[in-house]
Amino acid sequence: MKHIGFNKPYLTGKEGHYIYQAVLSCKISGDGVFTKKCHEFFEKRFNFKKVLLTTSCTDALEMAAILLDIKPGDEVIVPAYTFVSTVNAFVLRGAKIVFADSSKENPNIDVAKLESLITPNTRAIVPVHYAGVACDMDAIAAIAKKHNLYVVEDAAQGIDSYYKGRPLGSLGEMAAFSFHETKNIISGEGGMLTINDEKFIARAEIIREKGTNRSAFFRGEIDKYGWVDIGSSFLPSDIIAAFLFAQAEELDSIQKKRKAIWQLYHDQLKEIESKGKIKLPFIPEYATNNAHMFYIVCKNLDERTKLIEHLKQVNVQAVFHYLSLHKSPFYASRYHGPDLPMTDYYADSLLRLPMYFELTAEDVQRVTGAINAFYKNR
Ligand SMILES: *Cc1c(COP(=O)(O)O)cnc(C)c1O
Repeated sequence: MKHIGFNKPYLTGKEGHYIYQAVLSCKISGDGVFTKKCHEFFEKRFNFKKVLLTTSCTDALEMAAILLDIKPGDEVIVPAYTFVSTVNAFVLRGAKIVFADSSKENPNIDVAKLESLITPNTRAIVPVHYAGVACDMDAIAAIAKKHNLYVVEDAAQGIDSYYKGRPLGSLGEMAAFSFHETKNIISGEGGMLTINDEKFIARAEIIREKGTNRSAFFRGEIDKYGWVDIGSSFLPSDIIAAFLFAQAEELDSIQKKRKAIWQLYHDQLKEIESKGKIKLPFIPEYATNNAHMFYIVCKNLDERTKLIEHLKQVNVQAVFHYLSLHKSPFYASRYHGPDLPMTDYYADSLLRLPMYFELTAEDVQRVTGAINAFYKNR
């Protein structure tokens, strides 16, 4: 029986060709021809005011934390059910982390409880669009406006997904995307920062270029460049951008295929959902589905562990996701906040099924067949 892994990076076929072009051009450091093509592509397609490719989403988040001048004592609200990078970026600046719980409907931040987390020291809210499904951004924006807070979207999983028709990544002051090989479009490692508030653009270019105004120099706006701010090397080689551009050009066909796979899963599992045996992804009216992920929510940890084992028997790799960050080895002793029951619930019960471009209808059938058999007598 063929092994069905959790993820398989998809190659469009043009990556090698574009990389070869980048290599031949002998301009393979950052901000070369392919980086510019990528910037233009994403700015045009999604109406982002400014796009800057980065070496990862992690780096884009670190840039955001620097740009917002987050300082020791500042408080930043982040979900506890997320990847470490969402939080690390602000921990690195000395911020006090205020963990928010997930909602009952899906792992996104529970906006009903958000306002109770705000203090005079709160500076920013960092919503994570889990599985590419938008958080309730109007509610978040209203709270941010009322308390004068910044919003940084962790849109790592959110490419080509929308909130009330507006692209994820265009809703906060800035947003971070990932092109890690587990995401919808990839460059191995890679990411981008999108900036929607003009006042951050000039400084973002500087921070990304080791604290120098080299970008302005190359545009001929100044006649020499130097050290003007803090910064680091956040820009990827043009070889990475060449790979990414090949993927970006195929975004529509990639999305079409992923959505078809997602729908198969949904159709084949909705019966056991209607019987109350599992929960399927909840996509609110205001959000779209970009088919980044297909997950189910089991009753509890024990049932999920048994299901993972059951799927392994038919050579299918299903994987759980985040562990509660407030209980992590690094953070547990620092955490003095309330229990976060929904975070723990998703940490214990959420299970991600194989999801990638080359997954066939037969593959999906094998996965859902095994899941349906598992729940037959439960
Ligand atoms: C993948 C991911 C990241 C990290 O992306 P990298 O590009 O690997 O740094 C951050 N946040 C979320 C929610 C992610 O899914």
